[in-house]
Amino acid sequence: MATVAFIGLGNMGGPMATNLVVAGHAVTVFDLVPESCVQLREAGAEVADSASAAAAGAEYVISMLPAGKHVAGVYLGVDGGDAGLLAQLDASTTILDCSTIDAATAKTVGEAAREMGIGFMDSPVSGGVAAAEAGTLAFMCGGEAETFEKAKRVLQDMGKNIFHAGPAGAGQVAKACNNMLLAIHMIGTSEALEMGARNGLDPAVLSEIMLASSGRNWSLEVYNPYPGVMEAAPASNDYKPGFMVDLMVKDLGLAMEVAEHSGVANAMGQLARDRYQQHQENGNGQMDFSSILQTLQD
Ligand code: NAD
Repeated sequence: MATVAFIGLGNMGGPMATNLVVAGHAVTVFDLVPESCVQLREAGAEVADSASAAAAGAEYVISMLPAGKHVAGVYLGVDGGDAGLLAQLDASTTILDCSTIDAATAKTVGEAAREMGIGFMDSPVSGGVAAAEAGTLAFMCGGEAETFEKAKRVLQDMGKNIFHAGPAGAGQVAKACNNMLLAIHMIGTSEALEMGARNGLDPAVLSEIMLASSGRNWSLEVYNPYPGVMEAAPASNDYKPGFMVDLMVKDLGLAMEVAEHSGVANAMGQLARDRYQQHQENGNGQMDFSSILQTLQD
């Protein structure tokens, strides 16, 4: 059993923290919105009234926050406001930031933690709310090997696959690479299925053919974007998320930053970002990202 402070109890953080309680860890939680803590209190967590109160004496501090500015604010502090958690934590603490944020902020916070002798690991996840609830998330970790070994003790109670991607920031880079590829093959899969359907093919039959051929990919195999082909996929449920277009646009923005910083040509990634941004601007931000297929049908 470990003592854990969990900060940020939204759609993802709520079920992740609950799984830690269920696994027997002593969990103290904090969220800026007090209502977010109600379920955790019922599950058996302590509720603190600040991030710093939650983190006092914790072996692990885990955060699941919206974006880089929130993560920087919690750990490094806010100009003219609270000092960040790094100023108060003991050197034996391990910090796991599971939020999806820009790699530059992850590196900055990781470096500041390292200078103070505190283990920090950017640990973004793959898998949405359903995987958070089921405890089957994939974690992509960036930080030192020693911190990674310590991190596994708690990450294993929230996820199934835990990868050490490299030094601080590497987890965020891995996540950006994966989600850029995901966007590209979801659009490609949608185009192939729509082209087949317009030429008289049954999308279910075409899917079977491509799954047994070289076009096979994750979007086709577990998340078919054509309605009616796969009963459990968002496409067969009016494109209810799943994984929202808003979040895909956010992740593609982070991927563009990584590409720009490293001078990588990513024409396909940029095109995918433009398509998803347009889809979002057309009022579809809250729909599942596989609804991109509908833009080919309009
Ligand atoms: P969310 O908006 O539901 O939850 C974020 C929570 O953080 C909110 O409850 C908010 O009140 C809290 N918060 C914000 N600033 C805070 C602060 N300074 N101190 C304490 N609490 C604070 O978001 P989510 O869907 O849970 O996503 C969290 C992260 O996980 C994001 O970075 C997102 O990109 C990533 N992610 C989400 C999904 C998904 O399917 N939802 C999948 C993979 C990764």
